[in-house]
Amino acid sequence: MAHHPLYSDLCQIAGSKYVADSDFAVWAYAKDSSAYPARVPGIVVRPNTAEEVSEIVKLANQHKVPIVPRGGGTQFGGWPPGEPGKSICVDMTRMRRILDVNELNKTVTVEAGVTCAELEARLLPKGLYAHTVFSPADSVTIGGMVCGVFGGGGQMFAGLASNWPTIVGVKAVLPNGEVIETGTRTNPHAKMFFRSAVGPDLAGLFIGSMGIFGIITEVTLDLFYWQPHREVGAVAYKYERLDDAYQAIVKLGMHEPKLFSLCILFGLGPLAQTDWQLLYRAQGHSREELDRKLETTARIIEDTAPPDAWQPADAVGYATEFLLHGHDFPPHTLGMWTIMEFLCPRDNTLEIFKALSELIVEELRGWEDRVLSGGCSMFMCGEQHYLSFGLYHKESDPEAREKALSVSQKGNILGLEMGGFKLVLNKEGGDICAAMMPPAYSNWLRALKKAMDPNNIMNPHMLLLP
Ligand SMILES: Cc1cc2nc3c(=O)[nH]c(=O)nc-3n(C[C@H](O)[C@H](O)[C@H](O)COP(=O)(O)OP(=O)(O)OC[C@H]3O[C@@H](n4cnc5c(N)ncnc54)[C@H](O)[C@@H]3O)c2cc1C
Repeated sequence: MAHHPLYSDLCQIAGSKYVADSDFAVWAYAKDSSAYPARVPGIVVRPNTAEEVSEIVKLANQHKVPIVPRGGGTQFGGWPPGEPGKSICVDMTRMRRILDVNELNKTVTVEAGVTCAELEARLLPKGLYAHTVFSPADSVTIGGMVCGVFGGGGQMFAGLASNWPTIVGVKAVLPNGEVIETGTRTNPHAKMFFRSAVGPDLAGLFIGSMGIFGIITEVTLDLFYWQPHREVGAVAYKYERLDDAYQAIVKLGMHEPKLFSLCILFGLGPLAQTDWQLLYRAQGHSREELDRKLETTARIIEDTAPPDAWQPADAVGYATEFLLHGHDFPPHTLGMWTIMEFLCPRDNTLEIFKALSELIVEELRGWEDRVLSGGCSMFMCGEQHYLSFGLYHKESDPEAREKALSVSQKGNILGLEMGGFKLVLNKEGGDICAAMMPPAYSNWLRALKKAMDPNNIMNPHMLLLP
């Protein structure tokens, strides 16, 4: 088989051991963790330094070949298309050094390919943590996390989610191959110790960008002190009692000081008859602090719902399992997933939640054996709520896959029209959001992309961009 036209050049840059263009190698990079179609790159390269990344980007520009950066490949809204059979997939997982743990400045700087689990394993013995994502921690890279959802959670659940403010800055290779640093590194004499920059906060251009403005090679995150005392709690509500459960989660969320490191309202099973489980995890620097939080929580739950609405004991076993092993939770046994998710303002979360549940129940009528509703969850995410609904099908059933994807498409449009907001701007989800952008905003995005990437090599065709 003939090699990709840039095979020799890429071997010169990264070393032949780290370049592959055989069918079986490129297919391994064709999908994310969703049911959306595969998009096969032409070649894969695994750089080791920012300089190598810069050389690759310059080469791609010279030959006008698209680049698709890749971390753990775990995103779930459709893998970027690039140009199938031609694009260069830049796999960042070789760049996995933890560069600096600065306990005094409370920052940690890592290369983009470090996984959340690796970072946590390194920080925990020092009594520290950084905000990462809920799961799958052993695959999600810090670079992918910053470019992707970064809605949060974190294996340690040591703070309410909404992680974007905890990003201090990035080092990135721009589409023209230049290497830049944001934040306090806009003063070349300073360390990366604060998000504030000379001029506007351009780190934000990369956060949630899905890699359309460049390749992140390093990330600096805030560090926090680990809270050693922790306890998991749970309360189960009968399915008619969703409103009671929601009232409880709202009251808990509004309490100051914050009571939880994590709080979820979880509905397992068919949506029409779901029992609701309010799961929470409280942490404290001392036993007294933790006990105070737990007592306040119990009081709020008791005051919010009538005594027959909930049972304290039923859900504890499930909660413990779910919260300790975030990415092993039961729906994964159900097959391939398609996930709908929204960030919602507190004042209309419940309406969006109910409308989506009804849509899913209605749409799946007659399909119950082939597309399973894996239930739903409502995470407290800072002052907002994060909703997710999982559908599951067997990959051997292409009609079921199409059905799951079409229900998800309808749900995504409904949720957006009701005022929800999507954090996942991957190919398919991102296109739906971009279609709703006011023209002035999409023109601004187009102009920015064109100015930064005139040859359109960096993750093209995302967000309805060319
Ligand atoms: C089971 C499961 C549970 C999840 N739970 C959560 C959760 O609780 N909270 C949460 O926030 N997320 C969650 N996610 C989503 C996941 O954390 C994000 O999609 C994350 O962005 C993926 O990181 P990754 O390294 O796998 O990136 P990839 O999937 O490889 O890439 C994501 C996007 O970023 C681009 N990209 C990757 N690396 C770089 C880089 N270095 N520079 C520029 N662009 C780059 C890619 O081109 C792609 O567009 C979950 C995913 C799964 C599968």
